[in-house]
Amino acid sequence: MAVAREAMSRLVRDIPDFPEPGIVFKDIMPLLADHDGFHAVVTALAESGRDEHGEVIVDKVIGMEARGFLVGAPVALALGAGFTPVRKAGKLPGPTHAVTYDLEYGTATLEMHQDAIEPGDRVLLVDDVLATGGTARATAELVSRCGGTVVGVAVLMELGFLSGREQLGDLPVDSLAVV
Ligand code: AMP
Repeated sequence: MAVAREAMSRLVRDIPDFPEPGIVFKDIMPLLADHDGFHAVVTALAESGRDEHGEVIVDKVIGMEARGFLVGAPVALALGAGFTPVRKAGKLPGPTHAVTYDLEYGTATLEMHQDAIEPGDRVLLVDDVLATGGTARATAELVSRCGGTVVGVAVLMELGFLSGREQLGDLPVDSLAVV
């Protein structure tokens, strides 16, 4: 965990005013490009899918578009679990469930294949950044439409000033850094 935190502080860079003025974008590309750093953060995130004895407690890992794919897929492999993408509207080819949620300006829609999660599946949500919590909350709703259970949310970083975890009720949220 300490190695993962050190890698994050060294290899995640702040890009001011991207993608719009006033936003400080957390760019994880240098972290992904560093094998030891990437490996350390994937190993640390995967801990959220294990119990206190180290036993895997999830059947599926979901990554949210797009950087959630990059960190979620290796977490799924590390846990021996399946991986499922949650995508922006119109990207998935099969029958989907869809959830529309509010953004600061306007709305966004996320979709997941209806057969991606089996009833009873235990699911870990993985993303790079938890900001307002809207993405994670909408994804949890998609899981419940399929009859699955979200056991937790694991992110590299949580933007503490946005209080995203308050959107998630009782769901456990593990973040490697609060920024
Ligand atoms: P939210 O739904 O507000 O919790 O936003 C989370 C989603 O937006 C994640 O998929 C992140 O990749 C992305 N995101 C939000 N804020 C930032 C940020 N400051 N830097 C990088 N990605 C962000």
